[in-house]
Amino acid sequence: MTTLIYTHEACLDHIPGPSHPESPERLKAVIKALRTPEFEKAEWRDAPMGTREQVLMIHTEDFVTDIEDASPTRGYVPLDGGDTIMSPGSLEAVMRCVGAACAGVDAVLGNEARNVFCATRPCGHHAEPNRAMGFCIYNQAAIAAAYAYEVHKLERVAVVDFDVHHGNGTQAAFYDRPELFYASSHQSPFYPGTGSRTETGTAHNIVNVPLPRGCDSAMFREQIAAEMLPAIRAFNPELIIISAGFDAHHLDPLAGLNLQDSDYDWVTRELMKIADETCEGRIVSILEGGYSLEGLASSTAVHVKALMDH
Ligand SMILES: [Zn+2]
Repeated sequence: MTTLIYTHEACLDHIPGPSHPESPERLKAVIKALRTPEFEKAEWRDAPMGTREQVLMIHTEDFVTDIEDASPTRGYVPLDGGDTIMSPGSLEAVMRCVGAACAGVDAVLGNEARNVFCATRPCGHHAEPNRAMGFCIYNQAAIAAAYAYEVHKLERVAVVDFDVHHGNGTQAAFYDRPELFYASSHQSPFYPGTGSRTETGTAHNIVNVPLPRGCDSAMFREQIAAEMLPAIRAFNPELIIISAGFDAHHLDPLAGLNLQDSDYDWVTRELMKIADETCEGRIVSILEGGYSLEGLASSTAVHVKALMDH
């Protein structure tokens, strides 16, 4: 079985403004890195539109209506101070993000693919059920997990997040839902301020691994191996969704961790081992952050290359 890559050109039409770090250039850099002979065995698919019903599996109806009403026909609309902006193409972009993530779930559960990478933007993990923030409008990773639970009737779905920022949105959506598990490694203290070890969820279904500024490869691997991997194994997921942010890379301009490309290879393969043991290798990986175009391209390539090596 193959690795599928979902993307859509509409994801380039979310334009948060000329100096915004979450730019269309990010996705162009990712696609350029993946459109090389090394990846010719991966199968590319156009991301379908997500549905309102899928979005409502995580987000509140009032919030979704607000986002639809805010969608501009021209210019920009700020949702969260200057951080999270809607342009005329944003609504379709986020619905393609949701559609890719849910189609990825369908594909791995329908045995069409071993695993999936969603090359989509904007990122989603800061979006809470009733709030857009931190460059994120809808939370496609959380939606994909809820979709697997509601539509495919899975009983245990894990989201694993190695973006340098804590996914406060995913944590908020999962906090009282024992069937959904969230594990995050992230720089701390740092934006958005959540993600301490004491935030465990009502059923101990949240695992936070805060990492200090300057954390290097050795410390990252030690902490992930000691705290995160055993917790995911113990949860025994039927599907693993990765919130794959690459802003802990040493080249990233927004954050202060020092991961190398090889660390993304390592963590991807460790998660694949767990998926092989617990759920026939089923992984849906979804692009989150990463703001050095060079670091994003090289680390995404390493991540997808590992996913293909199954
Ligand atoms: Zn991030």
